[in-house]
Amino acid sequence: MKEFQLIQKYFKPLTKNCQAAAGLTDDVAKFSLKKNEELVISKDLFVEDVHFLLKDGGFKIASKLLATNLSDLASSGAKPLYYMLGFSKNKNLDQKFYQEFAKGLSKVQDDFKIYLIGGDTVSSEKLVFSITIFGTVKNDKNLARNKAKNGDLIFVSGSLGDSYLGLKLTAKKLSLQKKYQYLINRHFFPTPRIKLGQKLAEKNLSNCAIDISDGFLADLNHICQASKLNAEIKIENIPTSNSAKNILVADKSFNILDLLSGGDDYELIFSSNPKNYKKIINLSKQLKLDITCVGEFKKSTNKKFGIDLLDKKNNKIKFEKLGYQH
Ligand code: ADP
Ligand code: MG
Repeated sequence: MKEFQLIQKYFKPLTKNCQAAAGLTDDVAKFSLKKNEELVISKDLFVEDVHFLLKDGGFKIASKLLATNLSDLASSGAKPLYYMLGFSKNKNLDQKFYQEFAKGLSKVQDDFKIYLIGGDTVSSEKLVFSITIFGTVKNDKNLARNKAKNGDLIFVSGSLGDSYLGLKLTAKKLSLQKKYQYLINRHFFPTPRIKLGQKLAEKNLSNCAIDISDGFLADLNHICQASKLNAEIKIENIPTSNSAKNILVADKSFNILDLLSGGDDYELIFSSNPKNYKKIINLSKQLKLDITCVGEFKKSTNKKFGIDLLDKKNNKIKFEKLGYQH
């Protein structure tokens, strides 16, 4: 399929005729900001055989691409508005792939009321897909990795390790078993925590958040380094789903440390002053989303910053792997 046809048939409908896209007929897209708003931007690149397999199909690939990009905005507390798509094609892609790809984008963009406003299309041997997303946040309200404070509590949304287990089960060809479907879906269809990020920023409940893409430990460590603090984590407080608990019991080849470094959770880790504890529990109820306090940030006595993982008796647990490295 030719570039122009592809854009007209599959991508233009995703603009929903929004003004910013100008019908995908111009060289650029444009939109204005309100006076008291800042623009927040993020980009993700998905490479064939690294981030996805062609056999996953267009629907899964596209929806994960857009969802993970939205997750980056969630960590800043921004409201997402528009996105641009970088699309490479080759002869291995058929009409069904394009159709499913557009459907995947359509599903996620409808969930978050965002629109496609442009992009670029090329041909290449290996498939590469990229999204750049644009959102806004009120001036100076954005959450950032370097804003945690000594004594802040550390919270995490949802449950950890489901996506990692989903991926492993898929590789073990157990993906067709119904009891594992929840975990497999968490791998292919993560839920960007947009509402949570926005509420935390709006209500001044947090200044600091990160979304978990590389692994809970790896991403928490990013906050530690950026905020120059240590994190003390109680392992028994780590939230896990019932499906993950069952697997940990049934299959001794998995353990909790794998879930903490597995990555692809797309949950938020955020910090908050202890005085906000009740408000955060209320927010959790309001959003119908689990939010768990897993530890707190502490001052470092030297120039090194990192994570202490503690067991029930407050003994340090040794761990080697923080997360996925690109
Ligand atoms: P140029 O050659 O000037 O870069 P293109 O011919 O690549 O312009 O693109 C024409 C229009 O189609 C532009 O508005 C561009 O944003 C849009 N477009 C191209 N590829 C995509 C894509 N993958 N997704 C969405 N819009 C696209
Ligand atoms: Mg072009």
